[in-house]
Amino acid sequence: MPESLQDLESHRAELVRQFARLSDLRSGSISNTSGRCGKPNCRCHQPGQPVHGPNPRLTYKVQGKTVTESLPNPAARKKAAREVAEFRRFEQLIRDFIEVNAKICHARSGEEQPASQEKKRRRRPAKRRPAK
Ligand SMILES: [Zn+2]
Repeated sequence: MPESLQDLESHRAELVRQFARLSDLRSGSISNTSGRCGKPNCRCHQPGQPVHGPNPRLTYKVQGKTVTESLPNPAARKKAAREVAEFRRFEQLIRDFIEVNAKICHARSGEEQPASQEKKRRRRPAKRRPAK
């Protein structure tokens, strides 16, 4: 189903509105660490005893290096989960934005000016040039 240029432009405008509505976001992923600690006398090294954890943590990269932040309580966990989820939305928006822009570039003919500077209400429904 081919979308009209007008549809594509309004889709793009909607994406911009969604960008504006994003709240705090951060990249990273939440995972749980669990396992045995380094203390040989600890109960976690006894057979049949539970290991430590799960201890939730947030990991992310800063200039190529992985940074780990512990999430010591449910509030911190919830906050980080919300921020990371928002980052995923942000990434999806970027992908959609790039995609719709590429379609607009294809759909727009050479003579037509981008509508961003000035919105013109009157527009002919279809542009058809005689084939040569
Ligand atoms: Zn231990």
